[in-house]
Amino acid sequence: MKIKTTIRIMGLSLAISCAGAFPALADTVYVNASSLNLRSGPSTETQILDVIPRGAKLERESSADGWSVVTVNGTKGYVSSEYLTMKAPAASEPQTPAESPYVDRTWEVSLDPDYRYASFAKITGGKAVYYHNGSAKRNGKVVCVNAGHGTKGGGSVKTLCHPDGSAKVTGGTTAAGATTAAAVSSGMTFADGTAESKVTLALAKILRDKLLAAGYDVLMIREGSDVQLDNIARTVIANNNADCHIALHWDSTERDKGAFYMSVPSNKNYRAMEPVASYWKSHHALGDSLIAGLKNAGVKIFSSGSMEMDLTQTSYSTIPSVDIELGDKTSPHTDAALEKIGNGLLDGVNRFFGF
Ligand SMILES: [Zn+2]
Repeated sequence: MKIKTTIRIMGLSLAISCAGAFPALADTVYVNASSLNLRSGPSTETQILDVIPRGAKLERESSADGWSVVTVNGTKGYVSSEYLTMKAPAASEPQTPAESPYVDRTWEVSLDPDYRYASFAKITGGKAVYYHNGSAKRNGKVVCVNAGHGTKGGGSVKTLCHPDGSAKVTGGTTAAGATTAAAVSSGMTFADGTAESKVTLALAKILRDKLLAAGYDVLMIREGSDVQLDNIARTVIANNNADCHIALHWDSTERDKGAFYMSVPSNKNYRAMEPVASYWKSHHALGDSLIAGLKNAGVKIFSSGSMEMDLTQTSYSTIPSVDIELGDKTSPHTDAALEKIGNGLLDGVNRFFGF
């Protein structure tokens, strides 16, 4: 219940909202969700003031009707009480490594704050999973498989597009000229209603198993519906733990146009900016290999197989790294389609490393 009073003083009209239904209550609570929105009022219609990470400790002032009043970094606001617990939860949704006959051990990989560019990441609480190949086929190469999207709250946090703070040189999810972009966007929805993040995860698992069987070590960025790692954190973890980085996506067009990779824009300033200057040719070599593999597997390819795009991933990559779009909203994503794509990507990785 909210009591609204309007007071008129010397022609000045003041609307006073009295949160009479929020009795004082002083207790310590924790965020038990991937992330929690701090809002300007006790409703999901109100403005988001901040995004609070999982496990954050909050001093609650009052609560009523499913909403609690808390102060975060000096800002007082409302959070949904449903996602608060009295006991501190685990730091992030745990990623359970898959059982594999080719793996002798697995471990979690966090964002080390000493990694180059680590300080540019904003969502860093999650952990990637490293699969160490223990089979006789082990070839010593590490492939980072990055299931695109799947970071709850990532769309409302902004990170710098380029490490030098310069503006984006092409459009895309974020327009050209912007210096910041969503830390991780939520991704598109297929024409049949399936979320892109679900399909990228399904393909990531298929590709992981194919790579392991072929002798590769695999670094999986995401193994569940949510990992609290933004695009910069994912990229920096890949830079320091893998030999190449493949981010899996589907595009937001609706004409089943085929697969392509996001190539480095032929823009003088962008190609002169580090680390792009040192690595853009290796990104293209990886992208071209993957497209050749997909083509060989019978996957439909869009145009020449690439499209120039200024991406956060590329802007922070210090290993061969691509965002590959495996189709779009109307492309098939059945088990059989993903299996075919997985075979094509494995073929592409083998081509890239010369196996
Ligand atoms: Zn995507």
